[in-house]
Amino acid sequence: MVDTIIIGAGAAGLAAAQALQAAGERVLLLEARDRVGGRIATDRTYGPVELGAEFIHGDRASTWAYVRAAGLQTVPWGTVRRFARGGQVLPPDDPAIARTFALYAAATSYQGPELSVAALLARHAAADDPALGFALRWLANLEAADPAQLSAAAITRERAESQNGEGNFHILDGYDRLVAQMAAGLPIRLASPVILLDWAPGQVVAHLAGGERLTARRAVVTAPLALLRAARPAFRPALPPDKLAALDAIAVGHVSKLILWFSRQTWPDFSVLSTDGQVVTWWPVESAATPTLMGYVGGPAALALAARGEAGAIALGLEELATLFGAEVRAACLGGRLADWSREPWSLGAYSYSPPGIGAARATLAAPLAGTLFFAGEATVTNGHIATVHGAIESGLRAAAEIQEERSR
Ligand SMILES: Cc1cc2nc3c(=O)[nH]c(=O)nc-3n(C[C@H](O)[C@H](O)[C@H](O)COP(=O)(O)OP(=O)(O)OC[C@H]3O[C@@H](n4cnc5c(N)ncnc54)[C@H](O)[C@@H]3O)c2cc1C
Repeated sequence: MVDTIIIGAGAAGLAAAQALQAAGERVLLLEARDRVGGRIATDRTYGPVELGAEFIHGDRASTWAYVRAAGLQTVPWGTVRRFARGGQVLPPDDPAIARTFALYAAATSYQGPELSVAALLARHAAADDPALGFALRWLANLEAADPAQLSAAAITRERAESQNGEGNFHILDGYDRLVAQMAAGLPIRLASPVILLDWAPGQVVAHLAGGERLTARRAVVTAPLALLRAARPAFRPALPPDKLAALDAIAVGHVSKLILWFSRQTWPDFSVLSTDGQVVTWWPVESAATPTLMGYVGGPAALALAARGEAGAIALGLEELATLFGAEVRAACLGGRLADWSREPWSLGAYSYSPPGIGAARATLAAPLAGTLFFAGEATVTNGHIATVHGAIESGLRAAAEIQEERSR
């Protein structure tokens, strides 16, 4: 018997386990996949390229403590955003660009009654204004959200509450190195999905898919939102109605990433390019060992891209790049990879977002039950750090602190 079983060895579970182990608790991490990291996963076909989380958002993000401990090299990312329409990269002074930034600012500074981002921006721009399309797709990408279901008040509040500082940073060594640093020295059982948690105050029994049962005083649950909704794991007794309502009140977001590797760079330098194509955003990946472009698509468009399958998505990406930069991209392409997080059985989505009416759902989801079940993970974050690695880390540390408080009672 251990003191605490932690379900999931993603950023939240690893941070919780480290903190608890450092405080003298006997912990055991149970991880469904055959690797640690969860929604952090690095492809190393041509040097490190991120399939999931890619950036450290902010120069004060809690991730930095682990980055420094691991001695990882980072570079600032993507300072200048360019836009392309109809296969042409727009000049920086195209009037649609200033309007796009104004619409983005309107959506992220809205204060008023609950309203979706789509409804809000429809008040500020005509339906055929290209800036409206750019702004909606930009926000859909960032938030992994359907703008018609994304709360303008919530994203404004979340930005105001963020304390992660400025800028975005790429880990040149790969995000998987950060995960390896966090996992070092922790007892982790891989390929060990928990299908049921039997619990009573002061005791949990985790039933593994293979039939094994493991007992502990308490558990930290870090399974992603979409899995908890699908009762994976199931709870006996069931989660109370307010937790179930909270699971439904938070939205599951979608992201598809399309990685394309090239033998040479056939495009002009840029740091981020927003397009009106089906691959909504492109950026070059500095950590890769060969010229590499990342296509990033969030919200409903992510599902549409993924529905094409990997070969179809690669073909589409090359077609859109050829229109933008010339046909030689095809000859230079070494191959590609599609990361579809919504079909990953242990994610079923990319990251959570906040729809109108979300209220205190994240706090309700985060609240411990009977000093025995504790909840962490990016969806349980109650400030602006939702849907990020640093938010997940902080949620794990919060759950660890709750357990230590419980122990000291
Ligand atoms: C495409 C994409 C891009 C992103 N980009 C960024 C970015 O640039 N910067 C950033 O900060 N964040 C980014 N994020 C978000 C970030 O990856 C997540 O917020 C964070 O990694 C979530 O950590 P977590 O521990 O909450 O969940 P997870 O990483 O999902 O960890 C949960 C773990 O639980 C395991 N699990 C689930 N069910 C069970 C079960 N029943 N039994 C045992 N184990 C189980 C899963 O396998 C998983 O390992 C991105 C995410 C995606 C998908």
